[in-house]
Parts: sequence; C-alpha cells; structure tokens
Amino acid sequence: MATTQHKSAKTSPTPRIPMNDLVRSFAAYGEDLTRVVSEVVQSGWYLNGPETRGWEADLSAFVGATRAIAVGNGTDALELSIRAAMHGSDKTAVLTAANCGGYTSIAARRAGFDVRFADVDRESHLLTDATIRDALDDSVGVVVVTHLYGRAAELDAMLETCRVRGIAVVEDCAEAIGARDSRGRPVGSIGDVGAFSFYPTKNLGALGDSGAVVTSRDDIADHVRQLHQYGWASKYDIAVEGGRNSRTDEIQAAILRFKLKYLDDWNATRRAIVERYRSSAAKSINVLPAGGPWHVGHLAVATTPFRSELREHLEALDIATDVHFPIPDHQQSALRADYEDVQLPTTEGLAAEIVSLPVFPELSEEEIARICAALSSFAPRG
Ligand SMILES: *Cc1c(COP(=O)(O)O)cnc(C)c1O
Repeated sequence: MATTQHKSAKTSPTPRIPMNDLVRSFAAYGEDLTRVVSEVVQSGWYLNGPETRGWEADLSAFVGATRAIAVGNGTDALELSIRAAMHGSDKTAVLTAANCGGYTSIAARRAGFDVRFADVDRESHLLTDATIRDALDDSVGVVVVTHLYGRAAELDAMLETCRVRGIAVVEDCAEAIGARDSRGRPVGSIGDVGAFSFYPTKNLGALGDSGAVVTSRDDIADHVRQLHQYGWASKYDIAVEGGRNSRTDEIQAAILRFKLKYLDDWNATRRAIVERYRSSAAKSINVLPAGGPWHVGHLAVATTPFRSELREHLEALDIATDVHFPIPDHQQSALRADYEDVQLPTTEGLAAEIVSLPVFPELSEEEIARICAALSSFAPRG
C-alpha cells in the first residue's frame, strides 16, 4: 500500500511541496560537493587541519569579527559562548526568550546556570530593550538574544542596558547568518559573542552537524578554544575546568567554505519568496515581513487566529506546514516545574497563532505560485 501511495503521489499533477528538500539543494552543487569531500578524504587530515583553520578565517571575515572557533553543533556553540561570557563572574542566571525552540535553555542549564525568560515584542517576535528590562535582576550575567526566523534583532539599546549592569550579550545566530541590523552590522559581530549552527536545513548547512562561536573578544575566544578541546591550553595540558570535545571535522569545514560563497544569493532568494507570500496572503494571515538585509528568510512564519484551519487548507492542497515553535520553553514538560509562576502573555499568545510555510532557495516558480495562490484563497469559516 505504501508503494501505491508513493507512485500516485509522484504522478499526481500537484506533487507535495515539502518544508525543505535537501536532495534538491545537493543536486544543484553535487559534483562540486563530491569533489570537495573526496579531496578531504584523500588528504589524510580529518580534524584540526587546514580546512578547519581556513573555515574559521573565512567565517570570522564574513561575520566581521576577529575570531571564530568551529565546534560540533549550534547548541554547543551556545553553551560554550555562555560559559566563556560568564567566566570569572559570580552571576548565576541567563536571560533569554522562551519562543526560540529551547536550545538556549538546554545550553545554559547544561552550563550550570538558571534560565530566566523575558517576553517578546508582538510584531517582531524578538526580545527588545523594553521586554528585557522587566526581567533583569542582579543574578543575570548573560542575555542571549536570538535573531529568530532570520530577522536581525536591534541590539543597541539592549547592549547599553546590559553594559551598565556588567551583563554580556550572546547572539544566537543559528537562523540568521548573513542578516544585518539597521546600521548594517552583520549578526554575530554586534554583541559580545555570536553562536552559529550549520545544521543541514539552516541557511548555510553542513552535511551533518556543525556549529561555530564568533567573537572579537580575545578573552572569550581563548576560553572557548580551550573548552572545545578538553580544556587544553596546549596538547595534554588541561588548563580549564568544564572542557569537552566539540569540533567541526575537516569534511564539514570544507563543505561550509565551498557553500559560503553562495550564501548571500540564497538569502536574497529566500527573502524574496517570503515577501511574495506576504503580498499574496489573505487578510486573515499576517506573513512576517522579510523585505530587507535585516532578514535572511530562514523561516516564512505567519500568524493567524485561524491556524488549524489554515494548516488544513494548505494540507488539502499538498503544501506542508510546521510550527516553530509549538511549546514555549517555560511550558516544556522537562522544565516547567521551575517556571510555575512564569507568565509570558505575548510569547504564549503567539505560540498559538504561528505557522511556518515552505521556504528554501530551490523552490520552483510553480511551487511558489501555488503557495501564493493557496494563501490568497484562504477563507476561514470564522
Ligand atoms: C537550530 C538552532 C539551534 C541549534 O543548533 P544545532 O546545531 O541543531 O544544535 C539553536 N538556536 C536556534 C534558534 C536554532 O534554530
């Protein structure tokens, strides 16, 4: 029966539009990627070699910071950034938003810190100076700001609020590599340190797990460089506690160096697709704007009071949807015992209204047009 369904799906006049299609993204550059991998395989260097060093140099230059450390994944990048930014401080808590998928909460808790949450702005879905001010207290040593869905948060006012209180700002850039704030500064170069993920479906994706920490603060870079390899100052010399093994391998580094050349083009394609959804959508659907360098279209997120109806409507037209993210951190089953008194009205309200539409650079014109038509024909029953 599965075979029959598969066949009929393939010959159907409206093949399903998926949230993502990594086969297509590989196919577009497959020969080059295969060559890049093969060169590393034949080189005999699999870790800590010339590709990793070259990738760190390329990435720090792209972000406009002086240092980069390639690590195992984005969650490790957050954890090591938080540890390094907290180093030498007697603060005990990390403040962040609860609508960003839980990665920062996991990372900060693993680093041994309490996690506090600030609510987000209703329009941008991001932390702002106003929302963090309400939530800061003397225990907070780090604020993690996530550039959610690909949108660069405006950090200046938050940086000033944090600076006078001796608080470091970590940027979670996992969804926003290449985005620039209103002053043209790339994300990851604005706060004290930026954490990146190169999970395969990110705008810049490896063929497996990878992440990086980017900073212009030498003290943070030096500390992360030690933490990511056992706490070593040099080989076999364990100089700091809390170390571990979290590296990017040579194959992934070589792939990322190759793909980085195309990133700005892919980002432009993504934001143009999101803007088309925005201008096509029926009145009851608010597609979040992405029409400028301050957004890299990682996710096409809409809000609507009729979410389940909209998802059914799109599903009936063979268009996939998802929700990023359905459960705010303070309501996650493993965490909520610590947050019984916490109320984040905007975060909680938005969690019930958000829906993500397919967006990736290899979407065809026909697929984009189908999604636009589906968004424009949506008529909720009420
Ligand atoms: C993907 C993601 C991460 C985690 O990255 P991994 O490489 O999967 O560990 C962290 N923060 C945000 C906002 C993400 O989207």
